[in-house]
Amino acid sequence: MFDPLEVRKDFPILERVVKGRKLVYFDNAASTQKPVQVINRIVEFYSKHYANVHRGLHTLSQEASEMYEKAHGTLAKFINAYSWEEVVFVNNTTDAMNLLAYSWGLENLREGDEVVTTVMDHHSTMLPWRKIAAMRGARVKYIDVTPEGYLDYGSLDEAITRRTKVVVFTMASNVLGTINNVKEIVKRAREVGAIVIGDGAQYVPHVPTNVRELGLDFMAFSGHKMLGPTGSGVLWGRRDLLEKLGTFKVGGDTIKDVTLDDIVWLDIPWRFEAGTPNIEANIGLAAAAEYLLRLGMENVREHEKRLVEYLLKRLEEEFPDEVVVYGPRRPGDKTGVVAFNVKGLHHHTVGMALDFFGIAVRTGLHCAHPLHYRLKMTYLDPPPDKIPDSADERLRNFGSVRASFYIYNTHEEIDYFIDVLRRVIELKEALKSKPVEAVCTG
Ligand code: PMP
Repeated sequence: MFDPLEVRKDFPILERVVKGRKLVYFDNAASTQKPVQVINRIVEFYSKHYANVHRGLHTLSQEASEMYEKAHGTLAKFINAYSWEEVVFVNNTTDAMNLLAYSWGLENLREGDEVVTTVMDHHSTMLPWRKIAAMRGARVKYIDVTPEGYLDYGSLDEAITRRTKVVVFTMASNVLGTINNVKEIVKRAREVGAIVIGDGAQYVPHVPTNVRELGLDFMAFSGHKMLGPTGSGVLWGRRDLLEKLGTFKVGGDTIKDVTLDDIVWLDIPWRFEAGTPNIEANIGLAAAAEYLLRLGMENVREHEKRLVEYLLKRLEEEFPDEVVVYGPRRPGDKTGVVAFNVKGLHHHTVGMALDFFGIAVRTGLHCAHPLHYRLKMTYLDPPPDKIPDSADERLRNFGSVRASFYIYNTHEEIDYFIDVLRRVIELKEALKSKPVEAVCTG
């Protein structure tokens, strides 16, 4: 097991003082911080090897191409893919989902077909498929979520039918942390001959991932959520499917040859990486993957499990009546993400008050609006019986506070967080009517 205090030494930003306090960074589901190993790899690339890739004849282009190609291999190793060619570099998960929807979806969906996703899915996964389904006259169906924040596996047979062509779902929820049963969904999709796409944005950075075992057809994840730079990310696909997959963005670097009548596409993965790619970001992502492999993904998972178990226990002990926690309670069923509301106090106010004490959390609907409405995630006490018809009213009243952990978070930070939250709850009445600065300093 690694020592988070040792890990912290690699992250210069964790020395930051925010609003006069030492930063406590609990916004890792949105994006993680970067270790010097990643920062230095990018600096080294720009300082010593930078040129455009794809094998220009000169030395720098050869070096840059080699680093970039090797990065594909490192990411393949990270998820235990059979080959580096199964790894397509994309800008982020959103980019990968659009690639799949616009290539596979546009080509293969027909009127009357069905696309199945889940109520807990992130908009980045749900919306590209909703858009393409609408364009092709296909229907979108949703696997429901139970009040405890699990997928409703009892409804799988009803949701996934002979008409289903695509099942696309989040492998771990960005709001509830729920780790979904990938194999069960894959099994059902296989029975009806649908392709299965996993949104790994909140899974791959936190759970040891072995694509050979999971049985998926495609999987997407973002580099910035696993210590890598923004603008880095991966679409992994089974080789036979990638080889058959049509292109989405086309242009330079996707083709072997073009005449005015003919196009010969490059081999995988290049034909999906149109234009000059985000070279330094994906080279940086390889450094991030190496860093995580050194720590051991089993250890990353175990560390987060301990933290989440501790936070859930403390929240329950300290604030049984004041705080509502959403999602699974068993640490084995979830990643290091905890969404909650302080009854009667708006989630944004809670977030601003925590920031006042140097604690970074996310507040809002976390790009998962349908999930918030389905589970009635609101600060209103009691929650309304009916979800409002007006979007403005929904957006005003629904949302949650989300604390999310990574390798550098500690039990001591959770203790501090609980102390600050206690203070916020004590000041609740004043915070309802006065600015956070006025109340918290007073
Ligand atoms: N899916 C999930 C589950 C996510 O948490 C996120 C990021 N919040 C995304 C997709 C989209 O990732 P990105 O913004 O990096 O494209």
